[in-house]
Amino acid sequence: MDIHEYQAKEILARFGVPVPRGGLAYSPEQAAYRSREIGGDKWVVKAQVHAGGRGKAGGVKVCFSDREIEEVANEMFGKRIVTHQTGPEGKIVYRLYVEGGVDIQREIYLGFVLDRKSERIMVVASASGGMEIEEIAERAPETIVRSVVEPAVGIQEFQAREIAFALGFEPGQIRQAVETITGCYRAFDELDATMVEINPLVVTGDGAVLALDAKMTFDDNALYRRQEISELRDKSQEDPRETMAADRGLSYVGLEGNIGCIVNGAGLAMATMDMIKSSGGDPANFLDIGGGATPDRVAKAFRLVQSDHNVEAILVNIFAGINRCDWVAEGVVKALEANPVDIPVIVRLAGTNVNEGRKILEESGLPIITATTLAEAAEKAVSAWHEDNASHLKAVAS
Ligand code: GDP
Ligand code: MN
Repeated sequence: MDIHEYQAKEILARFGVPVPRGGLAYSPEQAAYRSREIGGDKWVVKAQVHAGGRGKAGGVKVCFSDREIEEVANEMFGKRIVTHQTGPEGKIVYRLYVEGGVDIQREIYLGFVLDRKSERIMVVASASGGMEIEEIAERAPETIVRSVVEPAVGIQEFQAREIAFALGFEPGQIRQAVETITGCYRAFDELDATMVEINPLVVTGDGAVLALDAKMTFDDNALYRRQEISELRDKSQEDPRETMAADRGLSYVGLEGNIGCIVNGAGLAMATMDMIKSSGGDPANFLDIGGGATPDRVAKAFRLVQSDHNVEAILVNIFAGINRCDWVAEGVVKALEANPVDIPVIVRLAGTNVNEGRKILEESGLPIITATTLAEAAEKAVSAWHEDNASHLKAVAS
């Protein structure tokens, strides 16, 4: 789960990371009021959307009066910000953050990621901040500093100092840099983050270290024990299909294709997507209904896939161990009876109570295509989708 910049800054500040003074605004008048609260003669108005690259997309503006702030804010509210991280549909601005302007002397990149290879949190930093890390990796790879943190002891002061020196901080700035690095690490570790990024971390004209931007991502699987973090969720910034799924406790990722998938288990879901691909089709989603799925849960998953307008065929693939095929079949029938579809539905059931499950499908009288193996199911799904498309085309042509 992603959060907004202002939320990340609020969290990081609690861990000792220095951030500029700022205030949140839901209206242009409030934005102007924030600037008076903050004081000074230069402010930055920042669009709060879940994406980086806002600066280049018109989402970060430096202002010199409260009238200018109102104008800029008026422009930004409701605007669709499109960056390389949002996809072509962009993200809409509903909140603005107003900060005191800063005199920037140097821009540094500071990131914390999960390194799969070492299975550790890794600090990734560069003295050439201001650019995205991908760009730094391309244009100045020699400037990138990497440092793996030993989880048993956490980040050590000497390690943070080493990183700070490698980034070229001057002696008077080292203490603040070390506090920033250790603060970010502790926030990452204690709050179950998967990513913390400060870009840029700046040195100001009077030599202070300050986090000008902040981004945090959290592990969805840990949100149940991080109430204060899960409350920061902003659904206006998410793919509506994924929001709906998360609200129903389903593991769902929207994709570009047109064969909707309902599968149990992440491994089988991946295999199903591969099989659809190798049969010449394109999956519309990844959906794992998990173990012990009740008919109700299956019906919800079905409705979710049905609500995606790109879906032109639905493949249900269940290998039931903890699950029960009869419950799955009941769920499918329930969903189809409540909400009939005119697209092909293919169901493959195997495992616990498979005979009962097949019987429920048969007796329902619904035009469900059944299969016994995964390969057969994927092939039937793709060919049924082709035929269905061809008949629609014929109907349109005649
Ligand atoms: P991003 O484009 O989404 O990563 O948004 P940032 O918060 O990083 O802002 C983009 C750029 O705006 C930064 O890299 C800075 O160069 C600039 N910027 C942000 N805050 C200030 C500020 O207070 N003063 C000045 N002069 N520039 C700023
Ligand atoms: Mn940035």
